[in-house]
Amino acid sequence: MIPFNSPNVTGKELEYIQDVIKCRKLAGDGKYTKLCNKWIEETTTTKKALLTPSCTHALEMAALLIDIKPGDEVIMPSYTFTSTANAFVLRGATIVFVDIRPDTMNIDETKIEEAITDRTKAIAPVHYAGVACEMDTIMDIAKRYELYVVEDAAQALMGTYKGRMLGTIGHFGTLSFHETKNFISGEGGALLINDERFIERAEIIREKGTNRTQFINGKVDKYNWQDVGSSYLPSELIAAYLYAQFEHLKETLNDRISLWNDYYENLQQLVEKGLIELPIVPEECVHNGHLFYIKAKNVEERTALMKYLKEQEIQLTAHYVPLHSSPAGMKFGRFHGEDQYTTIESDRLVRLPLFSDLTSVEPIYQAVNQFYLTMKLKV
Ligand SMILES: *Cc1c(COP(=O)(O)O)cnc(C)c1O
Repeated sequence: MIPFNSPNVTGKELEYIQDVIKCRKLAGDGKYTKLCNKWIEETTTTKKALLTPSCTHALEMAALLIDIKPGDEVIMPSYTFTSTANAFVLRGATIVFVDIRPDTMNIDETKIEEAITDRTKAIAPVHYAGVACEMDTIMDIAKRYELYVVEDAAQALMGTYKGRMLGTIGHFGTLSFHETKNFISGEGGALLINDERFIERAEIIREKGTNRTQFINGKVDKYNWQDVGSSYLPSELIAAYLYAQFEHLKETLNDRISLWNDYYENLQQLVEKGLIELPIVPEECVHNGHLFYIKAKNVEERTALMKYLKEQEIQLTAHYVPLHSSPAGMKFGRFHGEDQYTTIESDRLVRLPLFSDLTSVEPIYQAVNQFYLTMKLKV
């Protein structure tokens, strides 16, 4: 059986975890957390990176930092993971969903402005598959209406837009190191703070509302309760695993991109015959090989394709059920404008296996080709 995903291991993870145990320093913000934060800051050029237990927690921190209050509205695509919305809903916000672009599956930047009301506080673009949203347009709208931009870059570390790292363009960016992502620590995430005004408060919110970070850095002689907050820092054991991943990031990235390119080249004939569609990466974007998908004609064809590949022992998976059509989405949000693409495009999208240890994608694209060129004639 070819699984859909296999969590990435690069070699030094266990050694670094053993080092943490040997040093008897397991709580957060020790040596490995600092190494990871510094690595992220240097690699992405963000002003401040803070490891969090997950991308979900990084999004929650962003919602706290921009003071989301009941009644505020946050604009985002409906085609995303629940955490993008939940982080703001937890603070009482209403989610305003707008349609996606069919080429990238990202928020349609031309539909954002008409969804803005006097309650709108933020825009949360999601860089699906590590391919950037149209950030110049989004940042321009945010500036004109004085809105915050929280980039959900969970899938997007190392992806770029006009040469800029994803997660560093908005006021905040959030990364995920969940085992299904490119670079991992099982569960894990980071908040990127691109606007210095938020750094001090972010450190307090992350440390249970205390100024413990200032105390550790020798800036105050005792620490106390300063603000709201929670426990938003991961254990050193998690950071140790993650640092080993960062040290081999180039290899992992190259593995993924080369598999992605293999899929792309070897499925071209189906595109030329008008049978499927493949991901489109706009010229100003460099992607990170996070995921490879194809689009079948419709949901029935996708179901048949998934069934056929399962019989060949290959695991394919669909992706997000649009949030606006889910029970919580109906309760906490509304769709602004017409759902021209969100539902239709998500219904026909299917992801193919893609992970760094996958030796070859040949059996998979062959099975897909076979389905379309021979099998499907019989269905
Ligand atoms: C994976 C993912 C998340 C959640 O990440 P966690 O680290 O599991 O909390 C949020 N948004 C998007 C777009 C994701 O792909």
